[in-house]
Amino acid sequence: MTATAPREEQLWSRCAGCASLLYRKRLRRNLDVCPECGEHARLGAPERLRQLVDPGSLRLLPDRLPEADPLEFVDVLPYPHRLTGARASSGLAEGVVCATATIGGHPVALAVMDFRFLGGSLGCAVGELITRAAERALDDRTPLVLVTASGGARMQEGALSLMQMATVSQAIAALREAGLLTVSVLTDPTYGGVAASFATNTDLVLAESGARMGFAGPRVIRQITGRALPEGFQTADFLLRHGQVDMVVQRRSLRGRLVALLAATRAGRPARPPVPRQEPASRRERLADDGAALARPAVEGDAGTPEAGDTPGVRDAWDTVRTARHPGRPTTLDYLDSVFDGFVELHGDRLGADCPAIVGGVARLAGRHVMVIGHQKGHTTAELVARNFGMASPAGHRKALRLMRLAARLGLPVVTLVDTPGADPGVSAEEQGQAAAIAENILTLTVLPTPVLAVITGEGGSGGALALAVADRVLMLENAVYSVISPEGCAAILWPDRSAAPQAARALRLTAPDLCRLGVVDEVVSEPTSAAHDDPAETARRLRAALLANLLPLLDVPPAMLVRLRRQRFRRFGANRAGARAGLR
Ligand SMILES: [Zn+2]
Repeated sequence: MTATAPREEQLWSRCAGCASLLYRKRLRRNLDVCPECGEHARLGAPERLRQLVDPGSLRLLPDRLPEADPLEFVDVLPYPHRLTGARASSGLAEGVVCATATIGGHPVALAVMDFRFLGGSLGCAVGELITRAAERALDDRTPLVLVTASGGARMQEGALSLMQMATVSQAIAALREAGLLTVSVLTDPTYGGVAASFATNTDLVLAESGARMGFAGPRVIRQITGRALPEGFQTADFLLRHGQVDMVVQRRSLRGRLVALLAATRAGRPARPPVPRQEPASRRERLADDGAALARPAVEGDAGTPEAGDTPGVRDAWDTVRTARHPGRPTTLDYLDSVFDGFVELHGDRLGADCPAIVGGVARLAGRHVMVIGHQKGHTTAELVARNFGMASPAGHRKALRLMRLAARLGLPVVTLVDTPGADPGVSAEEQGQAAAIAENILTLTVLPTPVLAVITGEGGSGGALALAVADRVLMLENAVYSVISPEGCAAILWPDRSAAPQAARALRLTAPDLCRLGVVDEVVSEPTSAAHDDPAETARRLRAALLANLLPLLDVPPAMLVRLRRQRFRRFGANRAGARAGLR
């Protein structure tokens, strides 16, 4: 490289689409779209905001949050070093920039993600900042515009990163209830936890030309299915063809489209619908007290589970992962037989399919009627194959959604049993809108007006697990695991190779005692001496006792109060990160 190269690089840039050498200023005047081939280059958040909002109207929202490393995560680099590097190279405090502004004279709140910052990954701070932008929109009674660009969850924050999908989704739900428009603009790339939450559970979903969006990434799907992907898979045009976005918009038309949509939706909206905006402080404190009263003490006494990692002889996280995956481990249908009575299975999503990886229906728990929904694996290879290894398709998530809503209408509490490696990483799952199906379940559970009790019984794999696990109380069997990504997947990305899975399992803090300390899980249900598969009857007895102890107090709480408390439960994962960190020590 010659001495003049840096200067030339500032003046010229090479198009990633057609390799043309383009004069930088001309490219920027053209909104970073190649005039030769139409390639839309990725934009940082500041430039995106500049293109979208009215000049002089931008007011940035605060972007500083307390530094946090809730898991004290170390792969080949400690997480704080990665954060420092991202800040230095992007000039941003975090992977999202939030603001209020006007667009064509219409006031909005905006949250714009920046892929340059650790791949736009969804950590606690990003979730908290987007949630605050949504809350600002609610306070100001303005629409919320989200511009997404993300590889998915932030692995270094483990299950707390997963919780952000629920935190932001419930803020979207609040805007939905208040009759305020939410719009997401998908830009390239939008994947994983972001795709399966606020990128797709908004009122309107626009895809910028050239954007790709999906739950599972193309590399993962190719690896798992061993098949070549169809031409144009997960591109904006693919998403439009499969009914997953409202429109595909060229960058030069994006601002104009937003102006038109904001104008149209404003016209039909009553000036000030009578929606409660904020609880007065005293009432909020009372609710917090109610919450404290309802929440039972976490680990102590409930589980008899010693502190993993601190006590000699305690099972290593990787051993727990293998126990959670043991083919003899009781499945949802086993528990329906041993813990519940009178199970009547209900089938179908009413949209054309019945997914065998999700079973659900009405049953009785100690004489009380409940709706039970769970992932079904199997004990033999044939059973596992027939049940797609417990990996739900979009039809499975939509069946679960139908049963949750039915339960709320009938006044039945919902009990979910979570045991899945994750959502189905296949081509047709993506074609059928996997991300949006998961996103809608998460949002619906945040506001479902009936008690919801979730139990992680085996594997709680990322968004596919969370789609059944946004609950008033989340229990976890002692040898279950719950994680934002599989240890193998995490190792393949952050370590030199997949053989580091045992280290990744430890770093991810995916065991029941760790998650209890982080507040992700409320109670650990102990297993018989070695593991659940050695004594399924005793495991069932303990699970039944834990279900009853946790469900009965919820039955007395009025539905509106339940929903408020559930919201508080999932709201605290962004704000109280310092406390979560202290809890791990
Ligand atoms: Zn080009």
